[in-house]
Amino acid sequence: MTVEKPYVVQPAAGVYAYVQPDGGWCLNNAGWVCDGGQTLLVDTAATERRALALREAVLAAGAPLPRTVVNTHHHGDHTYGNAVFAPALIVGHDNARAEQLAAGHQLELIWPATDFGAIEITAPDLTYGDRLTLHVGETEVRVLHPGVAHTTGDSVVWLPGRRVVFTGDLVFAGGTPFLAMGSLAGSLRALELLRSLDAETVVPGHGPLTDPSAYESTERYLRYVAELAREGREKGLTPLETARGADLGEFAAWRESERLVANLHRAYAELAGEPEGAPLDIMAVLRDMTVMNGGTPILCHA
Ligand SMILES: [Zn+2]
Repeated sequence: MTVEKPYVVQPAAGVYAYVQPDGGWCLNNAGWVCDGGQTLLVDTAATERRALALREAVLAAGAPLPRTVVNTHHHGDHTYGNAVFAPALIVGHDNARAEQLAAGHQLELIWPATDFGAIEITAPDLTYGDRLTLHVGETEVRVLHPGVAHTTGDSVVWLPGRRVVFTGDLVFAGGTPFLAMGSLAGSLRALELLRSLDAETVVPGHGPLTDPSAYESTERYLRYVAELAREGREKGLTPLETARGADLGEFAAWRESERLVANLHRAYAELAGEPEGAPLDIMAVLRDMTVMNGGTPILCHA
């Protein structure tokens, strides 16, 4: 596997996105806002080494080290590097803190061969329920909770004066959405919130920078999963059987297409009346993704 080096894009004055190709499992995006001699960081990285590289990139761009870090959700690729930025204040949704503490060192269990380095689980110190506004110099940073979507504790980071939105994993550019810890219905509602912001630049949770057209393809995929789940469930098929018989069409080209079975598990749970975000058996979902992947366990790319 050849993995390119992370790179920095500046979509607007004082706004930087840190993209880690290829955007696959564990290779998330981060970014920062710098104004008035202050820096706010959005997300960290999955390994200590990658978080240190992110820290170097912030300094190399001439920004001071962040005073605040906003986590878009609890997943380790977005939060494992939090401790590298101590003593920055870590901000996240109420549920992101609870989920992060509950998940603990989950990535080491899923990917024991990956060298994560010294990871100290560092959950948000400051949590919020609905929305929160931070001010970085003159730049207004709105942190919005879209409801249960990719996880139960997602945050969207919206810079209205710059028309840039950091979506976290509500959007995967060129990758397959992943709903195992969130909600299908909630993910569709989250797209409505994103559309209402009228952003020019979309920094997705994984993959290259994009624009609001990414919401359309994400929505088509979510509706495709919903329809497959309805049909499969009517025929009495398991999520795995439904996934194996599915024609991915335009979505076959997206990375991590094996996530289809995970997303079907979520869609089935919702059709069965389970509350949005109700925990699934993640290890069983991972086993099914391994089957979808031709028997090869999914790999952490970090
Ligand atoms: Zn995630």
